[in-house]
Amino acid sequence: MKRILYIPFDHLHRNFGVLRDATPADDLVVLVESARMQTDRAWHPIRLFFLISSARHFATSLRSEGFTVEYIKTPTTIEGLISVQEKYGALPIFCAEPSSFLQYQSLKEFGVEFVDNDFFLTPRTMFAQWASTQKSYLMENFYRGQRIRLGILVDGREPLGGAWNFDKENRLPPPKNYTWPEYLEHPSDEIDLDVAAELGISAPTTWATTREGALAQLKYFISEHFPSFGPYEDAMTTENWALHHSLLSPYINNNLLHPSEVIDAALKAFEAGRVPLESCEGFIRQIIGWREYVNGMYWFLGEEYRNENQLGASRKLLPLFTDSSKTEMKCVQESVRGVEDRAWVHHIPRLMVLSNLALLTGVNPQEFLDWMRESFIDASDWVMVPNVIGMGMHADGGLMMTKPYISGGSYISKMSNYCKPCKYDPKDRTGDNACPFTTLYWDFLDRHQETFAANHRMKQQFFGLKRLSDLPELKVRANDVLKKLELGEI
Ligand code: SF4
Repeated sequence: MKRILYIPFDHLHRNFGVLRDATPADDLVVLVESARMQTDRAWHPIRLFFLISSARHFATSLRSEGFTVEYIKTPTTIEGLISVQEKYGALPIFCAEPSSFLQYQSLKEFGVEFVDNDFFLTPRTMFAQWASTQKSYLMENFYRGQRIRLGILVDGREPLGGAWNFDKENRLPPPKNYTWPEYLEHPSDEIDLDVAAELGISAPTTWATTREGALAQLKYFISEHFPSFGPYEDAMTTENWALHHSLLSPYINNNLLHPSEVIDAALKAFEAGRVPLESCEGFIRQIIGWREYVNGMYWFLGEEYRNENQLGASRKLLPLFTDSSKTEMKCVQESVRGVEDRAWVHHIPRLMVLSNLALLTGVNPQEFLDWMRESFIDASDWVMVPNVIGMGMHADGGLMMTKPYISGGSYISKMSNYCKPCKYDPKDRTGDNACPFTTLYWDFLDRHQETFAANHRMKQQFFGLKRLSDLPELKVRANDVLKKLELGEI
């Protein structure tokens, strides 16, 4: 053996990272299941199940290819690497650049040598070059550049269909009398059952834990969901938790699938005429635009960015985030239940229900970030730090987003069927039946008038605030709502 190749649990692809040029004759492969990754936080058991079972399956697939694989359980990753060196001698250890600051630092200090992280389509240096030439870091500008650079849905430098996005066509509420496709189930095997038993849960079948399962999910998305993905991508309904979403983010983030494989499959379906442009573009934007942008910003903005709290939000995490029975707000109940049941809800419940509520109530952004990291199956550090600090909580003073993502009950009412059975009324802002989102939306604007006074994109919102005749009553209701939310009684 000439090298030790260390594979973090989010580098599970045979053809990328440090395994790209690996051979069974020269390379010893090491995966470490550290106790710390399970016990240092209140991780969602489904998230742990997915990460651990995927890694154990990956180790098995490498062994069947002839590799010597050490899958070690130790208190920490570094202790695992020390034990391998003790067993095999002080061979050099290689790893693809890790995906978080913390892991990068600890492996570097231990002397691990890094190869480029090619699990994204945009090298970190390339993103940094782009960002350092921008006046503001608008995702849209980055995305258009990506389309041209990668030659995706463009004719030269112009977008196919004459527009860079089709959001207008893509913002439909949930359809009525609609038959949603069946959910694809992933039957458990022996490894899944072992991991689930160790974690004290029943093995979930929502998520695949093998490359074959991830490829099956990709195929199912392309054939059953992709054509209708775009129009309903922002909708929420009690009738179906997945809608036409791909459910691929966990696999792209732990690299059972490489983003290029997903893009290739999507473009193939589009070129064959099986998918309309608005669905294809909406999906492609999430992968080559938002996902790459968020990862680029994570590294570009640096390690301290996660501590930003420019709105001075100091409220403790509300009990309803960790227990759906602590609220009667239907939209929050549904969203938190989705997280409890499967460690996943799509981007709109994340942004416009959960983050919206945290932002409106002034929950401390770091507490909310911790909860999001712990609770979602696809919540890598690089995903959640910019998404929560920059986008969801507007805690960076507008570095990433030109205005905060806030809304009252009207948006949720328009985009879901949650409000009808809810005990609150999205149109009311005062009184016992007032929707907490609606009350808190105006209260937030009132509290932050000074902060956003110069923000021309919020002019209309402040114009609306000035026209409120019942602001004093609204402030009373807002205080009451905040108190009850803290007690888990609303
Ligand atoms: Fe949510 Fe308000 Fe609608 Fe109830 S009325 S579901 S709290 S938005």
